[in-house]
Amino acid sequence: MPYRTRLCGEFDAAQIGDVVDASGWTARLRDHGGLVFVDLRDRTGVVQLVIDPEHAPAALAVAQATRVESVLHARGRVVARAEGTANPNLPTGAIEILVDDLEELAPSDPLPFQLDDEGVDESLRIRHRALDLRRDRMLRNLRVRTQVTGIIRDYLEERGFWELETPILTKSTPEGARDFVVPARLHPGSVYALPQSPQLFKQLYMMAGLERYYQIARCFRDEAQRADRQLEFTQLDVEMSFVEREDVLDLAEGLYCRIWKEVLGVDLPRPFPRMPHAEAMLRYGSDKPDLRYGLEIADVSEIVRDSGFAVFQGAVASGGVVRALACPGAAGLSRKELNELAEFAKEWGGKGLAYLLVDESGEIRSPIAKFLSEDELAGVLAATGAQPGDAVFLAADAVPVVVRVLGALRPHLAERFALADPDGWSFLFVVDFPLFGWDEDEGRWVAEHHMFTAPRREDEDRIESDPGSVLSEAYDLVINGSEIASGSIRINRPDLQERVFRTVGFSAEEAEERFGFLLRALRYGAPPHGGIAPGIDRTVMLLTGTDSIRDVIAFPKIAGGHDPLTDAPSPAADAQWRDLGLPIPPAHFIAQELELLAEPVSLLNQRLVGVL
Ligand code: ASP
Repeated sequence: MPYRTRLCGEFDAAQIGDVVDASGWTARLRDHGGLVFVDLRDRTGVVQLVIDPEHAPAALAVAQATRVESVLHARGRVVARAEGTANPNLPTGAIEILVDDLEELAPSDPLPFQLDDEGVDESLRIRHRALDLRRDRMLRNLRVRTQVTGIIRDYLEERGFWELETPILTKSTPEGARDFVVPARLHPGSVYALPQSPQLFKQLYMMAGLERYYQIARCFRDEAQRADRQLEFTQLDVEMSFVEREDVLDLAEGLYCRIWKEVLGVDLPRPFPRMPHAEAMLRYGSDKPDLRYGLEIADVSEIVRDSGFAVFQGAVASGGVVRALACPGAAGLSRKELNELAEFAKEWGGKGLAYLLVDESGEIRSPIAKFLSEDELAGVLAATGAQPGDAVFLAADAVPVVVRVLGALRPHLAERFALADPDGWSFLFVVDFPLFGWDEDEGRWVAEHHMFTAPRREDEDRIESDPGSVLSEAYDLVINGSEIASGSIRINRPDLQERVFRTVGFSAEEAEERFGFLLRALRYGAPPHGGIAPGIDRTVMLLTGTDSIRDVIAFPKIAGGHDPLTDAPSPAADAQWRDLGLPIPPAHFIAQELELLAEPVSLLNQRLVGVL
């Protein structure tokens, strides 16, 4: 007996009169005293089974003994539903299967949670992930995920890209995060690193003359896990030879247009805007601005530099700036709400937040208005484009502080006033990033993207003399205010690569020791090349409208890198430590507790004595 003639969601009126087989999970069981109805579900949908005790008494006994989420197999005849009982909302809603035989293929225990309950604790959900993924919403997310990788493969194969792998056990390929390391049993004292990205291998592919590579690659970064991060995540890794920035951006643009069209039916306007990093920071206070709403920042330093307001005057006099943005419809904010915004600004390092409320008659209400002349007030309104009914917020401080405060305020206000069209899309390439940034903690220059990114040719000669002024060939794809992809044109000459290594503080020996394999390859002729790496998880989040990255990853980890499903990570057995040539940690749980609980040392000592 075949399990099924077709999938549950694929039955319709065309089969009326046929004897069919259907199998799936018991989504709902309803006993209408006499007739029993079962909603049988698989990933395609639901079909209704009807068990009539007169017609099939044995089937009735099976249905009455089974539980929700058990797996059933039914054989019966497709019939039209009785007048008035058809369900037009269901593709299979015109028919039902009148059951002759019913068997339970596998029983289900009583459920730890109901599948339609959205309030279930997440670690419980993940612990029972095979059950949790049966939710419509979760299946839909995974469906979009496989759709996206399918489109990627079609699109890139059509353009001559080869899908190739790169090692998982490897040497550090830095992307600015901490490496996961794996002790090497065969080389006591040595470790492999898990890749933070396939960056150097994809460059080696180009140096090998492969021309075009891609991989749907797992990347590992040992970071403190924030809500939107995972220790392992998936990116589409792409690299191509003999290209300039626009070639890569054009490729990525075409891919995203195709994904949005095929998954959502949305035609994205091309080309996506390209915005220099400096402009993004100035106008939006962010390197990933959401352009679905305005709230553009204006520099009003020149307008208010001689005003009677000491804070503005002082900021400009000491080399800082005064910048402002107008928020539509915010003139009616209460004193309490304005205070909360000032507190918000302080959380971002500002001293506070000045405001001008422009009421409907154009009258300005503000504690600082009396310090500003008519002209200065008019100048600020004109610069920010404020209209009656708007509020203008002003921050005065050193440039980085003002950028940070207003950059954080923008999305905050957009959310408070629902300024972003929820169905709108803002696709943007940010370009011309600085090559280096100054790391205060380490007291040295660090690569803003990664160390293999090429400087703009016209800036190359300032690498040593003025590293901070050198712009790079790096770019980001920003969608609705989230960074979705990063990439760059790479360095393809060993001398230039060595200069960048030197600038970030590597001696020639260190560079050779860490990246000798790259330098070696660069010395034998590397084509100009570049690439990009869009995050797959984040892309699927946008497409499904999901806030949680864990809802687009089948088997995610939760806070602290814990996996409630398998209970990983788990303590290693003593024999495993011995095999690795590593000392068995004196009851490793104590070491862990030392960190987590910061117990008084005396107490810990006592416990250690007890253990040893
Ligand atoms: N390797 C980079 C990253 O993972 C992307 C790239 O430059 O292609 O962010």
